[in-house]
Amino acid sequence: MNDPILVTRSSMPPINDYIKEIESLWDTHHLTNMGEKHHALQTRLKDYLGVQQIDLLTNGHMALELSMQALGLTGEVITTPFTFASTTQAIVRNGLKPVFSDVNPDDFTLDVTKIEECITDKTSAIIPVHVYGNVCNIEEIERIAKKYHLKVLYDAAHCFGVRYKNRGIGAFGDISCFSFHATKVFNTIEGGAVCFHENCFGKKLSALKNFGFYDGIAYELGVNAKMNEFCAAMGLCNLRYIEEEILKRKIIADRYRSYLDGVSGLRLSPIQKDVLQNYAYFPVVFDENLFGRNRDQVIEELSKYNIFARKYFYPLTSTFPCYGNQYSPDTTPVALRLSHQILTLPLYPELDLKDVDRICEILLRCKR
Ligand SMILES: *Cc1c(COP(=O)(O)O)cnc(C)c1O
Repeated sequence: MNDPILVTRSSMPPINDYIKEIESLWDTHHLTNMGEKHHALQTRLKDYLGVQQIDLLTNGHMALELSMQALGLTGEVITTPFTFASTTQAIVRNGLKPVFSDVNPDDFTLDVTKIEECITDKTSAIIPVHVYGNVCNIEEIERIAKKYHLKVLYDAAHCFGVRYKNRGIGAFGDISCFSFHATKVFNTIEGGAVCFHENCFGKKLSALKNFGFYDGIAYELGVNAKMNEFCAAMGLCNLRYIEEEILKRKIIADRYRSYLDGVSGLRLSPIQKDVLQNYAYFPVVFDENLFGRNRDQVIEELSKYNIFARKYFYPLTSTFPCYGNQYSPDTTPVALRLSHQILTLPLYPELDLKDVDRICEILLRCKR
């Protein structure tokens, strides 16, 4: 039996890079609270991502949760149920009501033709997700937001390094939030960032991540969500290799595509116009009628060979037990169908092309 192949594997720099990076911490004993590593990573990420302002946090979830709080959102927000648990939890934990709007069947992002019918006099924001690194219909979302005076907060957790029309993806919307979790394209072990334009917002956010303190007095109801120096150091090291890592991902994604593109019953993520991709994930949508096998049968077959693909995203966040039965998945039929048909195949920079070949051969043998 071959070694197990998991859906992802965290990127790590050469160990000596990291040791060298953290050495100075033994001189300063400055382990957290926005030290030199935090500052250096902030500066470098601002440049790499091409954004005006950026703040670093403990994780992507806190980036979402605190930026919603800092924006002062109220009432209802329009969002997608086809995402990771965090997007919806951040909304609900802010006391906001998620109004789930359906997604496009082709790129899995919010279907902009359905957003306006979800708007009420309580709506304060649109919270879309650039899911799998696929870029949302930014122009149309901007147009709708302007027309109805709504804020736009992108969950950009999947799209580190993605560029749209030659601009960093984090520069769009009022705010974009990244995750630097171990499993993401770029990691700081755990970590996250908020990208934004205005200065006043930044002051509030940096207070919120540090107990709401201004000069040691809590003027805001804050939390502790500061990125520590060891995580920032990991980020500084990983950032040196990011271009190579994305290139390796591209080679793997292209290999998958060479086997799977055009196979009847399989649908792949689109190659979007004007988008420089990061190849974060390789989702495949199975149409049981044409392929002869459903998504769950394919997972089962792959697992016999010690290959573990992931039902990402299943189930829809709107159906999680933590919300009771408040939200019906039937209001988002496209997302619901996708959640039953989609499978994310293993993809990480060191994945051997021979293994990609093997995965594709097993998958294609499933076809009936
Ligand atoms: C990973 C992820 C998050 C949360 O990020 P963490 O860093 O794990 O807290 C939020 N949204 C999406 C879409 C994600 O994939």
